[in-house]
This record gives sequence, C-alpha cells and structure tokens, in this order.
Amino acid sequence: MPARSITSLQLGGKKVLVRCDFNVPLAEGKIQDSERIDASLDTIRYVTERGGAAVLCSHLGRPKERTPELSLKPVAEYLTNVLGKKVALAPDCIGDITGKMIEMLKPGDAILLENLRFHPEEEANDRDFSHELARGKQAYVNDAFGTAHRAHASTAGVTRFIAERAAGFLMMRELEALRSVTVNPEHPAVAILGGAKVSDKMGVIKSFIAKLDAILIGGAMAYTFLKAKGVGVGRSRVEDDKLVLARELLDEAAAKGKRIVLPVDHVVAISADEESTATVTQIPVDMMGLDIGPATVDSFIAELSRAKTVIWNGPLGLFEREPFSHGTMRVGEALANMPGVKSIIGGGDTAAAVGHQPWSKQFTHISTGGGATLEFLEGIELPGVKALES
Ligand code: AMP
Repeated sequence: MPARSITSLQLGGKKVLVRCDFNVPLAEGKIQDSERIDASLDTIRYVTERGGAAVLCSHLGRPKERTPELSLKPVAEYLTNVLGKKVALAPDCIGDITGKMIEMLKPGDAILLENLRFHPEEEANDRDFSHELARGKQAYVNDAFGTAHRAHASTAGVTRFIAERAAGFLMMRELEALRSVTVNPEHPAVAILGGAKVSDKMGVIKSFIAKLDAILIGGAMAYTFLKAKGVGVGRSRVEDDKLVLARELLDEAAAKGKRIVLPVDHVVAISADEESTATVTQIPVDMMGLDIGPATVDSFIAELSRAKTVIWNGPLGLFEREPFSHGTMRVGEALANMPGVKSIIGGGDTAAAVGHQPWSKQFTHISTGGGATLEFLEGIELPGVKALES
C-alpha cells in the first residue's frame, strides 16, 4: 500500500516531527556535500509554510554515545542559511530542555534536534525512547529514505505514538521512482549492476530476472559470473563460494528468456594500485580485471539505447582510481544523454561515482539511499515505509 503523502496532513498549528537524513560527510566540522540536506528542503518548507512548526531530527555517523564531532551543529547552521530563518540546535533529541524549546515554537518555526544516535535506544527501537521522541508533537513526517530499511525509534517506534503521519516529498519521490522500475516497468526494462560483491546483490538479481528483460553486469561481480561460466579471470576479485549460485542465476535467466550480458573485454593491471594498465579480451593469469573494456562499454550502450526503463546499481569498475573509471563514466554519460529513457540511479557508490558529473542532472532520478534502494529492489518491505501506514 503506498504511503500517504505529506500533502494529506493538516499541519497548521501543529508541532511536526520530521525525520530527515542529514547523515552528510563532514571534515573538520564542515559539510562536504549538502545534497542530502537539500533533498529535504521542500518538505521542511512545506511544513513551515502551512503553519506547522518543524521539529527536525536525524542521525549522523555511528556514535555509540555523545560524541562532539558528530554534533548536528553544522547542519543547523547550514539550514539557518538556506531557509533564511533561525534553526536552533536543541542540546538533545529528548529531555526537558529540548521539550521546553519545542513548546515555545510558533507556527512557521523550525528547530533541529541533536544527533539521535547519541542514544543507543534509537537503533534499539526502544519503546520508552520512541515515546519520549513523540512527546509534544502532533504529526510525524518521514523523509529519510536512506534509513527507511532500518526499524529504529525515529523511523518506526515513534509512529506508535503519533497517529497523524505521512511520507515527505523526498520519500515519495524515491518510492515512486523505484516503483516505476519494480511495478509494471515500461519495457524493454534493463538493469545495470556492478560493484564489488555478488553476495550483496543476489536477491536483487533474482528479482530483476523475474521483472526485467536484461541485466548488464560489470564491476568485480562480473568475474564471479564469468568464472562460473568457465572463463579465465586471472587474479580478479571472485567470490568462490558464490560460483554455484551464479551458475544457477545464469541458468534461471536463460530458462526465462532473460539476457544477462557480461563483459567481453577488460582493463587489467597487476594490482589495483598499479598505473600501468592494458585492455584485453582474455585476462592473463597474473592480472586482475579492474574496469570493463571499450567493447563492453559499446555493447552495454547498445542495450541501453533500446531500453525504455533503466535501473543502475553499482559502479562498473574501480571508479575511485582514474585509470579504472572510464567504463562507469562512459556508460553513465551515454545513459544520461538518452532521450525518452527513464533512468533511475541507485544511491551509495553509484551516486558517488556519477552523481557529481555535469550530465548526471539528466538522469530521471538519483536515489539518496544505498541499502534502502537495494532492499526495496529486492522486494523487501521497508520498515520505515510500513510504519507510515495506519
Ligand atoms: P559495492 O559496495 O558492492 O557497490 O561495491 C563498490 C565498490 O566496488 C567500489 O569501491 C568499486 O571500486 C569496487 N569495484 C568495482 N569494480 C571493481 C573491480 N573490477 N575490482 C575491484 N573492485 C571493484
């Protein structure tokens, strides 16, 4: 059942707890990338413009206890700047002082609660902590898609105590984009999968074989599939304990008439730190494949140019190093420039690899969630979304 949207809530005069994903990279107290904050600004503005008082909350990093370096202070300062109104940082996410600050908020105000994970009860989805978090708020909005796969106090437990609840605009955008791939996608529908490990993506591959027409596999995970087919992969990264499963997936796809397209050439080196590289069709025994080669890039682009829907999860090579980034970049740029193709880009490493390129604006959607995207695509119900249902 699709979650209710924030637009269905009456927000005027209410204190609205808004769960955001402000888990941004910080260096020496400075925000390195504000994308996750920016992605929720329309939700925050909507609450305040409708006469609600926005009580914003988020986690930051993985503290086990109160850790000054993981304070949300830089985020409060950033929000004050971009919203053009004071967004105070409460000293904690619960407690009397914070409670008083919330009580004093007027319609249109916004406040940010301190890092939820300063309390281990947040991740434990503790009932009393959830109750405390809900105290004094009359509505709840979850906009934190990136944490929706976790049943924590602020994403799940708190909804037991706030009846008026809905998904924010970012959450709605994310769910709609991913549903357009998994529920009756426009065909041909093609997935691009890459990244380091097959084991993380087995469930997703199974679900894609059932729903999509073709799966293009690059990255290190391609070598497990190639080895399972008996192709020499030299010293490339392979998950030997997944060879049988990889063979089964190839057979399952063939039996269902779905295509799994594997690399036909590779950029190889003696090691991942090596500067000297070569492009080969057969990987020498002492070398490892670190990127897809140009013929593979062309074959992937040819597949994509026939598609109507494309979902991409995982870089196609060791993109962090320039010599091995070309496959990911060339496929990304070509896809971004294909008119009429719905292109959904998974969060995490895929967004890190291509999300800052000038052409990335042309993708239909770049997800802010890594783990949440994978679980959704696998068909797992996200606890943070389920908790929004009444
Ligand atoms: P994942 O978290 O599974 O999406 O994996 C992402 C990581 O896989 C990135 O850090 C990439 O550098 C790495 N990766 C992609 N292709 C390769 C490859 N051929 N060999 C080694 N690492 C790779």
